[in-house]
Amino acid sequence: MPVKPPIHPYPDGELPPVEADRLWQAAIEAPTSLDADAVRALARHGQALARRIRGQALMLDRIRESVITMDLVGFITGWNKGAEQLFGYRADEAIGRNILFLCDENDADGNTLEDAFLEHGGREMEVRRRKKSGELFWASMLLSVVHDDDGDPSGLIGHISDITERKQTEERIYALAYHDPLTGLANRASLFKVVDQALAVAQRNAMSGALLFIDLNRFKPINDTLGHTVGDRVLTEIAERLLATLRDEDVVARIGGDEFVVGLLDIARTEHASIVAQKILASIAEPFFIDDHELRLGAAIGISLYPQDGSDIEALLAAADIAMYRAKHGSDGVEGYAFYADNMNERTAHRLRIETGLRHAIERDELLLYYQPKVAISDGRIVGAEALVRWRHPERGLVPPGEFIPVAEETGLILQVSEWVLHAACAQSRRWADGGLAPLKIAINLSAREFNPRLPARIAAALAHHGIGAERLDLEITEGMLMNSTEQVIAMMAELAAMGLSLSLDDFGTGYSSLSYLRRFPIDSLKIDRSFVIDLPHDANAGAIASAIVSMSKRLQHRVVAEGVETRAQLEFLEAHGCDEIQGYFFSPPVPPEEFEAMVRQDRRLQT
Ligand code: C2E
Ligand code: MG
Ligand code: MG
Repeated sequence: MPVKPPIHPYPDGELPPVEADRLWQAAIEAPTSLDADAVRALARHGQALARRIRGQALMLDRIRESVITMDLVGFITGWNKGAEQLFGYRADEAIGRNILFLCDENDADGNTLEDAFLEHGGREMEVRRRKKSGELFWASMLLSVVHDDDGDPSGLIGHISDITERKQTEERIYALAYHDPLTGLANRASLFKVVDQALAVAQRNAMSGALLFIDLNRFKPINDTLGHTVGDRVLTEIAERLLATLRDEDVVARIGGDEFVVGLLDIARTEHASIVAQKILASIAEPFFIDDHELRLGAAIGISLYPQDGSDIEALLAAADIAMYRAKHGSDGVEGYAFYADNMNERTAHRLRIETGLRHAIERDELLLYYQPKVAISDGRIVGAEALVRWRHPERGLVPPGEFIPVAEETGLILQVSEWVLHAACAQSRRWADGGLAPLKIAINLSAREFNPRLPARIAAALAHHGIGAERLDLEITEGMLMNSTEQVIAMMAELAAMGLSLSLDDFGTGYSSLSYLRRFPIDSLKIDRSFVIDLPHDANAGAIASAIVSMSKRLQHRVVAEGVETRAQLEFLEAHGCDEIQGYFFSPPVPPEEFEAMVRQDRRLQT
């Protein structure tokens, strides 16, 4: 019984897979059973397949990116022109070899290829790779699994691109952002980072630590009379003396003009902190010989202790600062240093007053929202507003959030405050929509405590209750909330994004995340923190950081908003570097809703 050709080949002669299999099989098992038509059909099928494969190879070559195909254990089966250009190996030199031959020997990521893939169905990594020339470079490698007709994994495709430049920019940002360029010591950001991490460890292991806040005496007159060059050399030498006095494990940072902070991260007894303080005072008391000058400085040191004076770096620093002030001016400063002491009670009482007051504030409707416009640099128009909470205290007047949000965070009251803010902002948005105001995005600030899996449902409920669309709401989150980014956080953010909400990263630059890390999150805008904007455009560091943040964000396709813009010069710098929006006193401070509405109705614009 001769095998018949199929009735419906595809127009180019390719056969449907089932038919092709049937004919191949027959041709292998009993070649003579095929009649002339069947043989012809099979031959055309073969031609069509070959054409298609050549076409695909051509297409792959035309893609500028490098694309590599492999079998499941990493043996290279395809190598396009882009890969030839990137690595310097021709296709015939690469095909048949294992992808591991491109690895840097010091990189261990290659060895577990197979498992990593099959489990996750593909992944993206940043790895070091070696070119034929021997040159090492940073590559981003996106690997995905190819499946055969039965759905079984049959191979891998890798897209590889050279990200060396981006890595270098990131390293530069990091160095700028975490070091004091003058002394090479840690700066404020890096002090916060290191101490916070150390405190987390200390808490687990019930360890104690101390923070020493050092303020120089007589530095300012030296700087003013002998000039900055001499001043800079004094500071550099102080840094050297501090490093020489301390152990490697201690943290030394310069956090302001003549302010240094030392973190003793693991001390057995508090007396150790005073011993270190005395040593530091002695080393600073030695004269400085700079040019022809013999200079004598001194210092006051304030000490706070962990855990009794505070559980985080901010509290400890504030306490050390108060103690420093007392060492400098107070009566009980012992030989230039002082421990933070009893004003703690005062602080606790203050906190308690705020806590009780805040509970009432929610019941008595004393909270209100101010709105601060965000404007587009391109056309100067208002594009939205950030809602900022205020507390109208019956006796104290308008209390800014900086005074009560931290207490609310600590006591858990923040959840009620947040719920109030969410509803108030939605209600306002609804009123504006009803009043025919142009649709604007209102941003609200989220607190870490509400950043949990219940958030999407809470927000959906509020939107539905007030009958407004998700595109009207923007959620501002901070880097800290992403730090322990579990799959759960990523999934929740994806859910929020899918609902149509936009997400902004607030205070960007003060946290620890690298920009490439942020790619995992569906973030629309980055808000450059005010601390980088303040020093624009004259401070070279701030300028480098701000412009690097803008250009990197563009590549990741985030909009960039600059916070705290107060001057035209800052605006001009930001505009020149491609920033999209600004928010700040230069255009408007936060204002009551009626005022914001009036601004929008008058179509008030940024004068660029
Ligand atoms: P943020 O989200 O970074 O808000 C921006 C802050 O910068 C606001 O302070 C704003 O008044 C201030 N600002 C804006 N432009 C300028 C400027 O040109 N110069 C200066 N010097 N400052 C400017 P505000 O309203 O005191 O809020 C402080 C922080 O309190 C906010 O920082 C936010 O983290 C938190 N916050 C405010 N409202 C809420 C809220 O409803 N919920 C939560 N969880 N946090 C809130
Ligand atoms: Mg904000
Ligand atoms: Mg901010």
